[in-house]
Amino acid sequence: MSKVYNFSAGPAVLPHEVLLEAQGEMLDWHGSGMSVMEMSHRGKEFMEIIHQAEQDLRSLMNIPSNYRVLFLQGGASMQFSMVPLNLLGDRASVDVVNTGHWSKLAIKEARRYAGVNVVASSEDRNFTYVPASETWQRDPQAAYLHFTSNETIGGVQFSTFPEPEGEVPLVCDMSSDFLSREIDVSRFGLIYAGAQKNIGPSGLTLVIVREDLLDRAQPQIPTMMSYRVHADADSMYNTPATYPIYIAGLVFKWLKAQGGVRAMEARNEEKAGLLYHAIEQSGGFYHCPVEIAFRSRMNVVFRLRDESLEEAFVAGARAAGLVQLKGHRAVGGMRASIYNAMPLEGVKALVSYMLEFARQHG
Ligand SMILES: *Cc1c(COP(=O)(O)O)cnc(C)c1O
Repeated sequence: MSKVYNFSAGPAVLPHEVLLEAQGEMLDWHGSGMSVMEMSHRGKEFMEIIHQAEQDLRSLMNIPSNYRVLFLQGGASMQFSMVPLNLLGDRASVDVVNTGHWSKLAIKEARRYAGVNVVASSEDRNFTYVPASETWQRDPQAAYLHFTSNETIGGVQFSTFPEPEGEVPLVCDMSSDFLSREIDVSRFGLIYAGAQKNIGPSGLTLVIVREDLLDRAQPQIPTMMSYRVHADADSMYNTPATYPIYIAGLVFKWLKAQGGVRAMEARNEEKAGLLYHAIEQSGGFYHCPVEIAFRSRMNVVFRLRDESLEEAFVAGARAAGLVQLKGHRAVGGMRASIYNAMPLEGVKALVSYMLEFARQHG
């Protein structure tokens, strides 16, 4: 069997070393005689696994002690409901920035519970940029300000983060660029991310929430949707996604061994730089619709000048061991997702393929 380079947007590539380690421990975790999949979530072995995962994440992201880390399920999509249900408090409305597909879904869900003030939108130019934060129409009475740091489908990423204003906490959907660059957690009220992009397998959702925001939930909130309930139970109110938590823990350990988030950030810049450079240098054979300042370092979106060549491009790539390059069905074109676990060699292989394809068909 030969391994391919997998450019899927999610579930996505995992570090090869992590998969090997999980394979080695599959039947017998650390002499317990059990697979992690078979363990009680309340047993001492699994307690050690989840505790270590949290400690490693805290050190990787420098998470201040007044923040809780929650290991939840339901995906980032569940957070689209949990965020308003938990954080609206006595306020009437929330502020949101609309930068594309995932922002729109978050907005749609928030509208079920709250007034939604769209402070800025990039829909006027087909979601190819992030509106400058000085132009946002923010409401000082909003319960929070929600934005999507990286639009996974559009390939648009915030290059800088908005400043918190007054008492309005920043809430960020970081599903597709979590742990990809250094951030200052203390500037956020809440950060959430589905695991299957840059953390681990699907089935796990991470929430990092400032403690003082845990008591603003609507009184009728379902128990399983309450951050307070999950925080008080240390993410063990019910059975958590034990195996994904274990793999996420291995990924955190791997990240530390790679030099942490700063080292990943440098590597991610290099990888994205190679791809965008190849697109720019193709004389228009390939092009990226996203404005330069907001081009994602995680999801590189590009099109072929001659769209009738797309099928041949994807087929040839697959034959070369480069898979999952087709763009999301909502936008078409191509998309190369190059999360932390995508090695530099994978990006170099893609760049050579792209150059060769352009030479043959240009
Ligand atoms: C993938 C993704 C989602 C949805 O995640 P699920 O875990 O499938 O619910 C939400 N937001 C962003 C930015 C994403 O990339």
